[in-house]
Amino acid sequence: MKHSSLSLLLLPLLLGGCDALMEGVIGDLRHLSSREVSGSDGTITLDVDVTGEEAMLLTLQADDGALVFVDQVTDPSGTVAFSATDAWNDASHSVTMGAYPFPTSSINWPANGGSLTDGTWQIRLGTVDSAYYYQPGTGVQVDVLLKDDPSMSSGTLHVNLVYAGAAGTDEELARAAGVATAHWEEIYGQIGIDLTFEEWEYDNGALPGPGLGNAEDFIQISTSTSTRSVNVVLVPSMVDGDGIYGMAGGIPGALVPTDRSAVVISALTSSGPDLMFSAEEERIFAETMAHEVGHYLGLFHPVETSWDTWDSLGDTPECSGEGTCEQQLGSNLMFPYPVCSYTSCTPQADLTPQQSSAAHSYVGVE
Ligand SMILES: [Zn+2]
Repeated sequence: MKHSSLSLLLLPLLLGGCDALMEGVIGDLRHLSSREVSGSDGTITLDVDVTGEEAMLLTLQADDGALVFVDQVTDPSGTVAFSATDAWNDASHSVTMGAYPFPTSSINWPANGGSLTDGTWQIRLGTVDSAYYYQPGTGVQVDVLLKDDPSMSSGTLHVNLVYAGAAGTDEELARAAGVATAHWEEIYGQIGIDLTFEEWEYDNGALPGPGLGNAEDFIQISTSTSTRSVNVVLVPSMVDGDGIYGMAGGIPGALVPTDRSAVVISALTSSGPDLMFSAEEERIFAETMAHEVGHYLGLFHPVETSWDTWDSLGDTPECSGEGTCEQQLGSNLMFPYPVCSYTSCTPQADLTPQQSSAAHSYVGVE
């Protein structure tokens, strides 16, 4: 009896509830954080006050077994800037993975154009179960990182190269990684993003793609490295990832430590079964790291291999069909696979101006 009257009293608060986020700083970034619980309709509404910052990265971690997504982003004038319903209805144009329910989910804003104007942004989150039914009373850890960096043409990204398990003693892999990171620097150099590298080792190399298991390992790796950096984990081979070159922990990925704050790259797929890197394999190794981190910065494939789903950027052509798409986009860094003839593969290093802008908007780019 006491319980039910308490619930009734709390109900209006839960429905309209909007708690203040805790204010802090991580390096040059403003950090807002809070643990929220979804109200009776399964949603959480956050107010984020923007004062001079150019971009924000929101990362959400739902309690065990629950899923969370960004339902709606409303700008200070009251205009809906992003809606998950719109994203689902136009699933042929991808804007952010944040629109889809996951245990850990991120959205970087602005995504694909637009701007982060000063004032109070309202962000509504949805919490659902695995059957996508709204779940009231679900706890969500919320982290918002905001950067004050007006430059959309020059920046720096810090990368941690994490050699996992036996990858740490593989001299051929270390040699090839040296060549590949130099080429990766050239690729990102075209759009004005400088890279810095820090080398790490991690004991366990038996890792799947981020988000597909080994949550504790990914949390440990991402807790060890600095917040404003991307973890590129080189594994001998990816668990349950035969033939996969690499996998990113999100589009965009998180900067705060989570179970998917990493990109995982397979040494075996990159070198082939002889475990030696040819010049072409070194180049594809570079392109793989640049491509997967491109996802982490928020870039989608310009076209998916179903040939009917595209990114939402205006300057990547909307091709349809394998032949046309390989011809129009086969040299783009974010093309979904290496385009190879019998003897060689097309270099894939191109980035369009809008791909560049999207990458510079990522909060991880200083
Ligand atoms: Zn990809």
